[in-house]
Amino acid sequence: MTKMFKIALPDGSVREMPEGSTPADVAAAIGPGLAKAALAAKVDGEVRDIMRPFEGDASLALITSRDEKDALELVRHDFAHVLAEAVQNIFPGTQITFGPATDDGFYYDFAPAPGRGPFTEEDLPVIEEEMRRVIAADKPLVREVWDRERVRRFFIDHGETFKAEWVMELPEGEPITMYKTGHGEADWMDLCRGPHLASTGKLDPSAFKLTRVSGAYWRGDPKNPMLSRVYGTAWLNKKQLEAHLVRLEEAAKRDHRKIGQEMDLFHLQGEAHGSVFWHPNGYIIWRQLEAYMRRRLDAAGYLEVKTPQLMDARQWERSGHWGKYRENMFIVPDEIPHGSDDEDTDEQPILSGDADLMALKPMNCPAHVLIFNQGIKSYRDLPLRLAEFGCCHRNEPHGALHGILRVRQFTQDDAHIFVTEDQLVDEVVEFCDLLDSVYRDLGFDSYAIKLALRPDKRFGSDEMWDWSEQSLRDAVAATGRNTEQFGWEELPGEGAFYAPKLEFHLTDAIGRTWQVGTIQTDTVLPERLDASYIGEDGQKHRPVMLHRAIIGTFERFLGILIEHYAGKFPLWLAPVQVVVTTIVSDADDYARDVATKFAERGIRVETDIRNEKINYKVREHSLKKVPLLLVVGKREAEEGTVALRRLGSEERQLVMTVDEAISMITEEAVAPDLKRS
Ligand SMILES: [Zn+2]
Ligand SMILES: [Zn+2]
Repeated sequence: MTKMFKIALPDGSVREMPEGSTPADVAAAIGPGLAKAALAAKVDGEVRDIMRPFEGDASLALITSRDEKDALELVRHDFAHVLAEAVQNIFPGTQITFGPATDDGFYYDFAPAPGRGPFTEEDLPVIEEEMRRVIAADKPLVREVWDRERVRRFFIDHGETFKAEWVMELPEGEPITMYKTGHGEADWMDLCRGPHLASTGKLDPSAFKLTRVSGAYWRGDPKNPMLSRVYGTAWLNKKQLEAHLVRLEEAAKRDHRKIGQEMDLFHLQGEAHGSVFWHPNGYIIWRQLEAYMRRRLDAAGYLEVKTPQLMDARQWERSGHWGKYRENMFIVPDEIPHGSDDEDTDEQPILSGDADLMALKPMNCPAHVLIFNQGIKSYRDLPLRLAEFGCCHRNEPHGALHGILRVRQFTQDDAHIFVTEDQLVDEVVEFCDLLDSVYRDLGFDSYAIKLALRPDKRFGSDEMWDWSEQSLRDAVAATGRNTEQFGWEELPGEGAFYAPKLEFHLTDAIGRTWQVGTIQTDTVLPERLDASYIGEDGQKHRPVMLHRAIIGTFERFLGILIEHYAGKFPLWLAPVQVVVTTIVSDADDYARDVATKFAERGIRVETDIRNEKINYKVREHSLKKVPLLLVVGKREAEEGTVALRRLGSEERQLVMTVDEAISMITEEAVAPDLKRS
């Protein structure tokens, strides 16, 4: 008798299916529409091939293109296989290595055939054509389970040395899955965990585009051979692809590195990988933002501190960073100078090998606990909110760095709040309100709130986790922002190893999201560094520590701001707010007088009295994104007026008296928080 499996469906119904049947059979039994639409299956929560037989009783949810996140990942992975097959069809002798799905598509790393050289952009159209052919052939993607030795022999026989090397690192004895594209003996195969769609024909041939090529080391190690990486973007349909390409084009126009150069804000150079050289214009924006944040924190009861850049290795051992974090820390030997001032000596300081080690701080948390630990704290001192615009260093591979968005030296708007357990929810509510107001002031009306829950590997008891997760959940509920409008979502498994956290994701002007804000509870570090306060009961208690940031880091946030505004900053942030420019040289003195009056009122003003055509000057200042131009000629000089032009405005210029212009512009230039007060 055939064995029957009980398959539970999302609607609560249960179907009996004979052994050997697959999710595709269930889809077909439900109806032909679903059979066609189903791309893959979630079996007991795991995404699997739709043709993979059930192994016993199971719960089943069929994945269709409506389940966008899962569907996109499957489709992108399939495209990577199709790309690899297409490349090997056209360029025999090319070796395959790895090809995962990415956030907007896929890539595949190839070792080009000997003597062929790396792939170039010119190869892409030909490869795309071949990919369309593979898709049109509607080849099945078949999962097979092999043992390791068979996989190794297969790849060696096919001249695939990279794959043969890799498979030997998989655990011996465990079954390995191979995916075959097609039915026949000589079909294309890749070592792959899967899952995949049932056939290449499930892909939309108009929903992908190969975008670029780059070099990438085998397994990311510069000691290994350089491979040739081909990138593509892939979507469920043509409409999604086109929308994405428009977004890319828009993003390229807003690229902070391009605008940073046009506006002369900052630069980066190889002598200081991942550390930003802020130019005067860029640092003005930084200072405005910092002054704004400082006012908001002062008003919210934070106390600002400044802590050491270098601390002893022993301190990092105590806080646990040395063990977990060392490879990201910059280590500095504490070399002791010989210090004989009056002697002319060639003696060197004690050499690194003998010196004690110190490290540049990768985060401010331990130093803030050390401040908390000075003197005895009572429950009356709590909540204690210690803030620092803390400059930190973290070592990252050069390849991971990206403009000012991903750097090695950065300044956080960091703060740590020490609270009693009873104060936690209220304090998180206050933080959420402050953050909401800051984001709106800075021009972001839309953001999402997510709660990252306990990961598998974690510190602390389940009780502690239940309590912290529920506290954060309660706090967001109390603000009324646990709604769809705020993208409220709980993310299982994504919390830090010591605590859950709230994440705040901004949506920018072109719909991209950026995680910037965060608040997380921590009972581990207060324990490790023995922080305590005297409670109402006269006993010692551990405070709970909240790590929190609103804008995250200044560098990254300024990069986001540049791209969000495309350089067209609101007046209070703009580096140069006003340029007074002349039509004729007769008005030079008048232009200087007008500029002086603005400068006296604290407006950041420049004059442009170069003997150039006015249209040329206007174009140049609009490229530099100067918000306001005051054009003056002979007539304005005689009448004491200016002609005002706004950046990007189609309106005709507005003529007004100098006093009118000053009062209008000084009012507009006030920071949003000061406007309210
Ligand atoms: Zn694969
Ligand atoms: Zn912290």
